[in-house]
Amino acid sequence: MSYRAWFQCINEQCKERYPLNRIIYRCSKCDSLLEVQHDVQALAATDAKSWMKLFEDRYKSTQWPYGSGVWGKKEWILPEISDENIVSLYEGGTNLFWAERFGKMLGIENLWIKLCGNSHSGSFKDLGMTVLVSQVKQMISEGAPIKAVACASTGDTSAALAVYCAAAGIQSIVLLPKGKISIAQLVQPIANGALVLSLDTDFDGCMRVVKEITKDETIYLANSMNSLRIEGQKTVGIEILQQFDWVTPDVIIIPGGNLGNVSALGSGLLMMRDLGLITKMPRIVVAQAERANPLYRSYLTGFKRFEPIVAQKTLASAIQIGNPVSIEKAVRTLKQFNGVVVDATEQELSDAAAMGDTTGMFNCPHTGVALAALIKMLKAGTIDKAEHVVVISTAHGLKFTDFKVNYHEGNMEFPCTYANRPIELPPTVDAVKEALKKALDRKKPA
Ligand SMILES: *Cc1c(COP(=O)(O)O)cnc(C)c1O
Ligand SMILES: [Zn+2]
Repeated sequence: MSYRAWFQCINEQCKERYPLNRIIYRCSKCDSLLEVQHDVQALAATDAKSWMKLFEDRYKSTQWPYGSGVWGKKEWILPEISDENIVSLYEGGTNLFWAERFGKMLGIENLWIKLCGNSHSGSFKDLGMTVLVSQVKQMISEGAPIKAVACASTGDTSAALAVYCAAAGIQSIVLLPKGKISIAQLVQPIANGALVLSLDTDFDGCMRVVKEITKDETIYLANSMNSLRIEGQKTVGIEILQQFDWVTPDVIIIPGGNLGNVSALGSGLLMMRDLGLITKMPRIVVAQAERANPLYRSYLTGFKRFEPIVAQKTLASAIQIGNPVSIEKAVRTLKQFNGVVVDATEQELSDAAAMGDTTGMFNCPHTGVALAALIKMLKAGTIDKAEHVVVISTAHGLKFTDFKVNYHEGNMEFPCTYANRPIELPPTVDAVKEALKKALDRKKPA
């Protein structure tokens, strides 16, 4: 069976198509974003049961590259790429766990966390980057004049780009907002040999520059404006459904910044529906930091208006974006999925992350934003306690140790409700015994 995919303009009046090996990021006719479209008719010649079986047989196997959570679904992603050009680090296949204790604290039985940060570069950006870098390798092998791949980043895209390019032997270039990403995120591209450009601006400022420098076709653009990334990211929804034996949860909550990921989530779910793997659709909730909430503001107008904003500094640094590239795609997705947008203050996101940590999680601030949205919606009754909810945890907490240290030391602009401070003591048995007595007596239930 031969399957095909191509870039297609998202503008309904235009729908112009371009081959996937064309160096193009926006429609050259109408300047709209592009998306990857598949020959769904050809895919539909295989029935849903057979797709499920194929995906399950490959899942986490060592049959390279199909053990990868992304490449196990190759026919739905980049069907025409040759296996030898695939740059895979066994991404996807992350754990989806029942957050039993945290759920109990919130009064909800059926709460699950999809831990996408347990991945090669520590965030879910690996899912899309394996696809983009593989396509670049394919294009280079066909003679494309690409010398390097570049992105603007709030820290996780650059880490993923650098690591996949290093694995492929391709030069990466990352443009980072100076002083606005964590130390771990800064050192990741440095270690992987990226050309690291630290600019005295914010993400949106880096984005403006990278768009200009990638007008030169020898430098390929890796931001999610490039819809190849979305093709990999869309596997997150497919994988969640697969892990639930193809039973659709009621609600999926995802933190959003540039908004490529919410549209990717929607696109994977729609593809499953179109090919008969599922019939029920979940509701999608996008969670934003209140300090970087342009989508939330648009949601309040029923998506009638959208205004880019200047994002304020937020602890959820990976989603500190005021002018999201994928706004149109995100709005389309939210309309299709009965979507809701919720925002969270710095205190709400920090307390939610910390509260989750006390039940055995280790949350990054963006996951904190999603958990805060869950808490607010449960309180407001917009998520019912009987519903089956999945929260997408997007990065590993260890990338954000400053956030955690500052919280537990009480170095925030707000009271840190769940701060747990180390007790400094002289190195004597008596002092330790005394401290234990105080602490354990205090914790005894009344
Ligand atoms: C990129 C990112 C997001 C948001 O994804 P968008 O596609 O930009 O909306 C959320 N959390 C983390 C940790 C990220 O790196
Ligand atoms: Zn167009």
